[in-house]
Amino acid sequence: MNSNKILKVYANSKKSELGLGDYIRIASFLPNLNFKKIYWYSNKELFPIIKKIDFIDKVYDLKKREKIATHSKKIKVINLYENGKNDYENLYIKNFFQKKRDIKNNTIDIYDKFADFYNIKKYKIFTNSKHNYRKSIDIFFNWSAPTKWKKKQLPKKKWQKLENLIKKKYKKIVWQNPDDNLEKYITKIQKSKFVISIVGLGNHLSALFNIPTIILCGPTFFNEAKKHKNVNLIYPNNPCGNKSCKVIKKLNHCGRMDHIKLDDILKRLKL
Ligand SMILES: [Zn+2]
Repeated sequence: MNSNKILKVYANSKKSELGLGDYIRIASFLPNLNFKKIYWYSNKELFPIIKKIDFIDKVYDLKKREKIATHSKKIKVINLYENGKNDYENLYIKNFFQKKRDIKNNTIDIYDKFADFYNIKKYKIFTNSKHNYRKSIDIFFNWSAPTKWKKKQLPKKKWQKLENLIKKKYKKIVWQNPDDNLEKYITKIQKSKFVISIVGLGNHLSALFNIPTIILCGPTFFNEAKKHKNVNLIYPNNPCGNKSCKVIKKLNHCGRMDHIKLDDILKRLKL
């Protein structure tokens, strides 16, 4: 019923709590809505990500966003940063979540919430279909998290140990460089044959590009990744073997990244 309509997405990463990975997640759902075209209006900081997404037809500077009639029959809007009243033509994500928690905590089951709102029974998570990058990196280590998410990191010593254990089989191992700008970072992931990642932007990018990925999950709940066929999840063992650790019920393990076993990674790599 949307097939003769245009979907416009308005996003402003400076005025929203959404993380960069959330924009990829949200975009990956949009083709389920069956629009004729999807246009994305945002601040330029998001361009390096959004312009890499195959199924977004056009990307515009948010400044070009025109004032549209609220109930234009040909256009629907998803607004990712302003407040407003939700109806079938307009979805304001800030008002989309009912409970008064912040958006960040609410986006965990965003796919199901979208499906409910648009009354979609079955949906899939879309990824890019073009693969036009020469693969020159055997494994990319996506190891670093922003300062406030340090508890998502696997200790650097473990990564070094892992590198030593696998470098015979994987000649070119590249570590994420936190000083890279977004474009350079994305290009490195696109050039990778395989990614090992903590939970964060890197694993959303690798899933978008259909790159086989191992995600190391500790304190964050990440069942959603199971919807991607090239993605494998590794958690700390339950029990992890450390006497001071308690199993966190919701996570079904202790949640500590340093209790993820390197052996589990080696097994997935068939080493
Ligand atoms: Zn533990």
